[in-house]
Amino acid sequence: MEAGGGAAVGPIRPTAVEIDLAALADNARAIARLAGTSLCAVVKADAYGHGAPGVATALEAAGVIGSFAVSLVEEGVQLRDAGVRAPILVMGPAQRGGATEMRARDLTPVVSDAGDLDELAAAGPMAVHLKVDTGMGRLGVPMADAAAVAARATSLGLDVAGVMTHLANADVDDPGEPDCLTWRQLDHFAEVTTRVRAVAPGALRHAANSSGTMLFPSARLDLVRVGLALYGNGAWSADAALPAPRRQAMRFVTHVAQLRHLAAGASVGYGALWTASRSTVCAILPVGYADGLPRRVTGHGAVVIGGRRCPLVGAVSMDIAIADVTDVPGVALGDEAVLLGTGAGPHGTDTITTAELAAWSGLTPYEVTCGVSKRVPRVYGAGP
Ligand SMILES: *Cc1c(COP(=O)(O)O)cnc(C)c1O
Repeated sequence: MEAGGGAAVGPIRPTAVEIDLAALADNARAIARLAGTSLCAVVKADAYGHGAPGVATALEAAGVIGSFAVSLVEEGVQLRDAGVRAPILVMGPAQRGGATEMRARDLTPVVSDAGDLDELAAAGPMAVHLKVDTGMGRLGVPMADAAAVAARATSLGLDVAGVMTHLANADVDDPGEPDCLTWRQLDHFAEVTTRVRAVAPGALRHAANSSGTMLFPSARLDLVRVGLALYGNGAWSADAALPAPRRQAMRFVTHVAQLRHLAAGASVGYGALWTASRSTVCAILPVGYADGLPRRVTGHGAVVIGGRRCPLVGAVSMDIAIADVTDVPGVALGDEAVLLGTGAGPHGTDTITTAELAAWSGLTPYEVTCGVSKRVPRVYGAGP
């Protein structure tokens, strides 16, 4: 017990993110079945805001994941500390001083610059994946250098266990357009992997992110690196091999903290951006942009209360948002308000998708889930 005698207090505030671990496992199974290759679950950036230790340990326990990928050495260490045993690929640019830690924690570095090799080799023999730039224009060795870098890695005692590239446009390209950047990148990659595998015959070839996996079948190769789709967002292939509809893993909820009755003509919130045009009941919600409800939903957003969609009115502020619940008879203090995901109640069921919240805020689905702040506790469960 701590000095002062206080026992640990659970969260008092009702604002939380609920992660549906069954949905995650089902999505993973469906994606692995579609891809027909090993599934590498991308859990960088705290599993896109879902909480990396909770997500990775659950997926590992479900037995559907071949490996994990993160951006930072620290993110890999966090997973090892949580007990994750599967291979963990560290995809970000080399972190000076990171090689020793990666070897000690059995993390697999991605080599995206020939200059990375010496520090890695000095840390001792280990597996690496070689990243090649086939058109993303970001990380990766030039195509012309790839085989030579692989040969040099091998001569330094490193095991080139994989060769990878990253697709720039898989989410926007039309797979029916043969000259799109994605198909050109995949052509380049096929040529590069042939040369790299002449030096490192066992190297796994991987290129596909979520959209590549869903929409460009020949991108699936030996392994797919999937983030967005795992969490139930982004494109979902119409292929019949996908056995179940995807399920959004994140629910972002709060409760009605106050109900206020406004006369017609009364305004609401900073800037008085919204004025009641009729006698109105407003629900005050203890959630704001500091929690990751984007301020830019102002004027566009909605929440589900009592199973019915209610517009958010006035500016979203740091800690507070306001919903117009005039059309939800019987709404009461403490009622659940769903910012993301499904809400059910006496008036029905409705779902706010990540794509909707993203569109309202001018963001991508990635930014919506990554943007839920550390102030909001993540609660893990098996879903409804
Ligand atoms: C983030 C990332 C992915 C996963 O992308 P999604 O679109 O979320 O599936 C795959 N590969 C690399 C190199 C990445 O950085």
